[in-house]
Amino acid sequence: MIDPMAPVPPDQLESVVRGWRALSPRLVSLGRDRPEGTKGIFVNPPATRGSTVLFSSVGAMEQAGHGRYGDELIYGAMGTPIGHRLEQAIATIEGGTHAQLAPSGLAACALPFLAYAKAGEHCLLADSVYGPTRRFAEKVLRRFGVEITYFPPGATEGELRALIQPNTRIIFAESPGSHSFEVLDVPMLGRLAAQTGARLIVDNTWGIGLFSPFAHGAHVSVQALSKYPSGHSDLILGAVTVASEADWRPLRDAAIQAGQVAGPDDCALTLRGLRTMGVRQMQQAATALAVALWLESRPEVARVLHPALPSCPGHEYWKRDFTGASSLFGVVFDAAFTLDDMVAMIDGLSLFGIGASWGGYESLILPTTGGISRQCPSVTQAGPTCRLHIGLEEGAALVADLARGLDGMSAARHRHGPA
Ligand SMILES: *Cc1c(COP(=O)(O)O)cnc(C)c1O
Repeated sequence: MIDPMAPVPPDQLESVVRGWRALSPRLVSLGRDRPEGTKGIFVNPPATRGSTVLFSSVGAMEQAGHGRYGDELIYGAMGTPIGHRLEQAIATIEGGTHAQLAPSGLAACALPFLAYAKAGEHCLLADSVYGPTRRFAEKVLRRFGVEITYFPPGATEGELRALIQPNTRIIFAESPGSHSFEVLDVPMLGRLAAQTGARLIVDNTWGIGLFSPFAHGAHVSVQALSKYPSGHSDLILGAVTVASEADWRPLRDAAIQAGQVAGPDDCALTLRGLRTMGVRQMQQAATALAVALWLESRPEVARVLHPALPSCPGHEYWKRDFTGASSLFGVVFDAAFTLDDMVAMIDGLSLFGIGASWGGYESLILPTTGGISRQCPSVTQAGPTCRLHIGLEEGAALVADLARGLDGMSAARHRHGPA
């Protein structure tokens, strides 16, 4: 029997889409010119390719070099007109002043460490950060003599204060956490950073458009543009945004020194993706909430890790600080089921793709049991867990697919008995 999806209460639905209702119309014009005088222009700024930039004189070339903190055209590796437009658009969405593109979301996570940390200094990272960010800290930062400590996502202000050292320069947060979805008290982290002189960096990929990092005490915000901004699962790109000149100069220097470049075609596609990001997110967030509520009603499910649901760790911070939700959330199954049970269920689904990444228009599912690597106990250790990304498919069809899968998983458990 397929249990139908109950209608989502209007207030709850509004709570996940209201931010996009406000932002969506503004996305139409970000990073674009308006026609002036008698000259016509294309709606979409063209992808500008180039390496060498020619100047009329040696003096003019030297002059351009001084413009590296702005949008000056100097050399292809130091930015392109289409890249600068995308940077401008991302900085506006994030509420910052300057953005720097990076070739991937991971490169954007690494760049602030390269910009703001050095040997002998200490960085404090949320235990729930994106796995490859943690791998960068472990494999690269430690090798260069940077000390790393992880804090539990639910740490109190007092517990965090005890982890801060005189040489702490960076607090790196991601909210909600990768795979485990704990929402962090970012304003509290911002206060601690301000009191101790550290920089607070937030990976805001899940919260783009819905969480204003700089209004909540962050100095630096990171985006994987490969997700909702580009939105079509066809490119890899990242961005780092700051809100002050003091944070901008070292970031821009590090980007140039480390050769961080974004391809012009990816920039043009991402600018195009931004135009529809609001409507995509509104639709996908609404379907995701309905699917999450339906899953919560199922006997096989122990817990749904969706920041808009009270059962999600840190839900109160989401309610206070976010203006909506994205369409990515987690599910913890009852511990009576094994990982193999869940994997067999996932393999049998027909509307969910199995694969990494998210933010496209298609639904995805991924086993996340145990998280990638955690030091502190994690909600993803309570039973088999998976992560769902809800796309633009019809909600009732997705629920029917999941219902078939869960019914089959329960039936198999009854046939074989508990593990
Ligand atoms: C995907 C992701 C990244 C990395 O982005 P890529 O473009 O895939 O390198 C970083 N942070 C978060 C939270 C992500 O989900």
